[in-house]
Amino acid sequence: MFRRSQEIQIKSADQLAVMRRAGLVVARTLQAVANAVCPGVTTRELDAIARDCIRTNDATPSFLGYHGFPAVICTSVNEEVVHGIPGERVLRDGDLLSIDCGAIVDGWHGDAAVSVPVGTVSAPVLALSAATESALWAGLQQARAGNRLSDISHAVEVAINAAGSFGVVEDYTGHGIGTSMHMHPPIPNHGKPGRGPVLKVGMALAIEPMATLGSPVVGVLADDWTVVALDQGPAAHWEHTVAITESGPWVLTALAEIHL
Ligand code: MG
Ligand code: MG
Repeated sequence: MFRRSQEIQIKSADQLAVMRRAGLVVARTLQAVANAVCPGVTTRELDAIARDCIRTNDATPSFLGYHGFPAVICTSVNEEVVHGIPGERVLRDGDLLSIDCGAIVDGWHGDAAVSVPVGTVSAPVLALSAATESALWAGLQQARAGNRLSDISHAVEVAINAAGSFGVVEDYTGHGIGTSMHMHPPIPNHGKPGRGPVLKVGMALAIEPMATLGSPVVGVLADDWTVVALDQGPAAHWEHTVAITESGPWVLTALAEIHL
């Protein structure tokens, strides 16, 4: 991650409205891809669906070409945590697929991820995904003016741990977002509350818990992208981009208008 500045970018209401347009493209794309997930489909076919959807919505993919990334979405299967590259892999019944997508509208980014069951998935893996999603929403709830950044991190960690015995991945974080996809500040998914910068109206943050069914220790495959759980246990990843507004958190990458 390359930071141009340690300042957290503040957006005007008009700029957040453009970010909402980008977020809606991401939401529609994730929905289209998730709808196509089934045993037998390849991750490359899913990437093509995302490419078409982003183009149809007059947006630009954030990921394609990002530090050389060769696809529009990241597709991470089972023990793959994040940054999986779409390809010839055929999804099988029982897999858990994490899909991460970013889109740009008029220079402003949206970034979100979902984990989707392929066919019939085991109860423990479904519980992992549900815990990770609920932790995301717990973090989003803390994206309020006057809170401190680590209030988000703490809420995410508490929610995952409250849901069961899961590992919280610490080597990757959420991030500020706006005119670039990855901006200051990094947002860990663990930590004590009450630390870090005070959140202000006009900030936009991508909150993205990653959790595992086993050990949260991760490594990177020889493709230099795919992050995997070293113990090969399954992982889940959920993400939304949220804006901090006068009236509270505005989830920019949800299909519906969600103000928390
Ligand atoms: Mg993402
Ligand atoms: Mg992100």
